[in-house]
Amino acid sequence: MPDRLGGERALVDSLVADHAEVWDLAGRIPVGVPRELGAAGLLCAQVPAAFGGLGFTSAENGEFTAHVGSRCSSLRSVMTSQGMAAWTVQRLGDRHQRESLLAELTSGRLAAVGFSEPDAGSDLSGMRTEIRREGDDTVVVDGHKVWMTAACYADLLVVIGRFDGGAAAVVVPASAPGVQVSKVADPLGCRAAGHADVTFERVRLPVSSVLGGVGQSLPLLLTTALAYGRFSVAWGCVGILRACLAATATHAAHRTQSGIPLARHQLVGRHLAELLVDERTAALACERASRCWDRGSPDLVIETVLAKHVSARNAARGAASAVQVLASAGAQDGHVVARAYRDAKLMEIIEGSNEICQLLLAEHAVANAAS
Ligand code: FAD
Repeated sequence: MPDRLGGERALVDSLVADHAEVWDLAGRIPVGVPRELGAAGLLCAQVPAAFGGLGFTSAENGEFTAHVGSRCSSLRSVMTSQGMAAWTVQRLGDRHQRESLLAELTSGRLAAVGFSEPDAGSDLSGMRTEIRREGDDTVVVDGHKVWMTAACYADLLVVIGRFDGGAAAVVVPASAPGVQVSKVADPLGCRAAGHADVTFERVRLPVSSVLGGVGQSLPLLLTTALAYGRFSVAWGCVGILRACLAATATHAAHRTQSGIPLARHQLVGRHLAELLVDERTAALACERASRCWDRGSPDLVIETVLAKHVSARNAARGAASAVQVLASAGAQDGHVVARAYRDAKLMEIIEGSNEICQLLLAEHAVANAAS
């Protein structure tokens, strides 16, 4: 891991300390924590220095994301939302929007991103949220987004909706009249990530709130934002696996049954071996995807899907093994492996579920064979 991350990791360690369990049980992170990381530029560390960011390479940003994920998946989820918002602004915003919004996102203001709707989940072409012009200077947003991660903490909501015969991303202040944020009660995992359902009722905004100012194709817009989300979730899952591996190896080395440490029972050893393999293969897939991001390779989209799929699947499987090995010692809500078990399952659903990733990978395999 590059040395330059030492200070950043230490900041995360000091802020999270031993609070992740309490945050999970309370369903809330004190908002000062993401604000402090955000003000240090660390919630979207890939933003170039020219826009006030830290200019991390994708590999550095990935390793940092894994570190946060190993400590607290809820905080990492907040970071994923911020990074996705920043990447969407960076890719789709005009020069003025990039300068002003990225400065906000690297100085402590928090953001969430909304695609999903009650009737548009895996198939986002069913999206109904409408962004329409009213006169020359104003747009009006009407719609309903669900499960927006970090929306309970966010100052800015990046909302994807229908616009001008295509689609657009619009940046909505969470405090704008007509915006209502309702916390999702008792999520299965990442309980402190601030998930919320958000309604927009005749929300009037200056037309300059539309990123890039014009309608875009919905698939292009989704691919842009989701690519970053998948990258971040993939590395976050590597963090989950690292936390599970550390907890499981330590427990199996010290707990004795039938006169020998658990780790020397071969069936327990197999769990440890598989957990190590899951962590290493997930990290390798993420490193490969990051190399594509750092080179600007067109393969970054599919390699990121692959990394997300491998990492989420491995994290769900690895966390289940970790709970199995710790047994009653890890079977209490809030325990690192219990949290990992719940958090990792959700990673198989979001940013393209296992099935959607498999469909994309299958399509890629067929296209490659045909070319
Ligand atoms: P559905 O689309 O109804 O799918 C149900 C099941 O059917 C899944 O297993 C799916 O894989 C499968 N399926 C669906 N279509 C197909 C198909 N064509 N072929 C094969 N299988 C299929 N949304 C946001 O916009 N912003 C966020 O920040 C955000 N954060 C989230 C955080 C969490 C913890 C969760 C749980 C969700 C979040 N979401 C967010 C929503 C998330 O993106 C959706 O849950 C996800 O896209 C799946 O949609 P769905 O839940 O409606 O499931």
